[in-house]
Amino acid sequence: MNIHILRCGEIRVSETVPFGNAVSLANTARQLAAPDKARVTLPVFAYLIEHPRGLLLVDTGWCREISPTGVYDAAAVRELLPGPLAAFYRPTLPAGEAIHEQLAARGLSPRDLDCVILTHLDPDHVAGLRHIKGAKRIVLPEDEYFWSCRAVYKARQPRSLWIDAPIERLYYRGSPLGPNRWAIDLFGDESVQLVNVPGHTDGQAAVILRRGGKFVLLTADAAFSPRNWRESVAPGYGFDHEQQLKSLRWIASMAAEPGCAAVLCSHDPGVQPHTIVI
Ligand SMILES: [Zn+2]
Repeated sequence: MNIHILRCGEIRVSETVPFGNAVSLANTARQLAAPDKARVTLPVFAYLIEHPRGLLLVDTGWCREISPTGVYDAAAVRELLPGPLAAFYRPTLPAGEAIHEQLAARGLSPRDLDCVILTHLDPDHVAGLRHIKGAKRIVLPEDEYFWSCRAVYKARQPRSLWIDAPIERLYYRGSPLGPNRWAIDLFGDESVQLVNVPGHTDGQAAVILRRGGKFVLLTADAAFSPRNWRESVAPGYGFDHEQQLKSLRWIASMAAEPGCAAVLCSHDPGVQPHTIVI
């Protein structure tokens, strides 16, 4: 199984987002207003996986329209994101990093994607959906879709970016995996499992890719870097701090397993695009 780490743009967020270790409306308000000198640039990763059952994509990154010329464009951002989210993320998508551009560079089209897995509905993970029309399947945990009706998620997850995509909602089931023992076994063979890691959102999934005795864990936004689980410091953007810490404890336990080949976070500045083979 080849796991290609794709950089699909970046965000320039308050330095309290990756390691704030508290979530509250007041903290979010401060993050929106953070001056540039109190911000950090973080990558936005998606993952293209050559799996025995087909070509998989995990998340989609930003869309070209948010950064038409590949540089930060405040007016273009505000066309796609409401003002507070635009101020929170300050996104940029350099030329060649949009998901369809990266597929084309590999000689692929969206129709070659057998399954697209969405970890959650925040815009940096789903804005690129518009670029992968024709993918055979797009899946999302039902729990994430269900809670998108809640006011806090309506504010975080602009519906225009994903509501018209043909998303298939899959149900978490009882499982030995995860902080809440809730997971989706995508192909029924344990090779791809969506594991509920709540805290950042309620329904968010981490993804375990397993082959032979090895596995790679994609944490989505349950962690922003290994420091989160090594020091039990939760990201400062989320919904439920206690659930974030519980999810981090589970990630730490997985990272310590002998079969763990890598643990990858969606916004870890310590990771460069590369390919992992398991
Ligand atoms: Zn994210």
